[in-house]
Amino acid sequence: MAATSLAHESLLRKVARFASEAACETLWPTRCALCDRPGQVLCASCISQLAFIDAWKSCPLCGSPFGLRQCDFCNTLALGRLGRESAPFDGCASVLPFDECSGTLVRTFKDGGEQRLADNLANMMARYVQPSWSFGAVTYVPASKAAYRSRGFDHAELLACALAAQLSKPVARVFERPSSRDQRKLTARGRLSNLKGAMRLRADVSKQPVESGLLVVDDVFTTGATLCAACDALVQLTPHIYCLTFARA
Ligand SMILES: [Zn+2]
Ligand SMILES: [Zn+2]
Repeated sequence: MAATSLAHESLLRKVARFASEAACETLWPTRCALCDRPGQVLCASCISQLAFIDAWKSCPLCGSPFGLRQCDFCNTLALGRLGRESAPFDGCASVLPFDECSGTLVRTFKDGGEQRLADNLANMMARYVQPSWSFGAVTYVPASKAAYRSRGFDHAELLACALAAQLSKPVARVFERPSSRDQRKLTARGRLSNLKGAMRLRADVSKQPVESGLLVVDDVFTTGATLCAACDALVQLTPHIYCLTFARA
């Protein structure tokens, strides 16, 4: 009797949710984040017009869009600004250069709270995972406590979960949520000091090595400071580190 009433209640809840979603869709129909046409959160026509980074022209190590011959990241000057001599990862790739379209998508997803875009972005990112990359799990740098509070969700976690689902890999939550400030409001020098010590592994994972390698996911590769700091922290955990971002500044 009790089981029947529980099943009945859960059915009622499903019907109520379906009705409220249908009402929302009628009042505020889903529109494409780029062209505003109703239907999908990102339409196929807009996806086909994106300026995807050509892997044949990009840096084979860091994925910089035109870095095949001369990379703007893998050189002593750029790396020196980050206080290092070499890139701290085994491979890195990005889907789009940071332009008007990718910027709009990231802002709509991250600041506009359009969480449904995570699947679209992850779908594009999955195509940029190189066949030579060997990793057993997907990880991410959690949003700072302040960013999490103001947005109500962790954009990097959503991206990592969507990508991991597409790649049929688990998500490894290895980092503690930093209490640092939003990186976007800081200069390159400010980003470095802000990140110092902010990238801490969770106490329960720091002693469990991940032999198979890790893929670190983020929305934008700006100066590389965030990903480099993450890689530095991961060195003690895994022998292979790869990075994948949606956009590349
Ligand atoms: Zn569109
Ligand atoms: Zn490079």
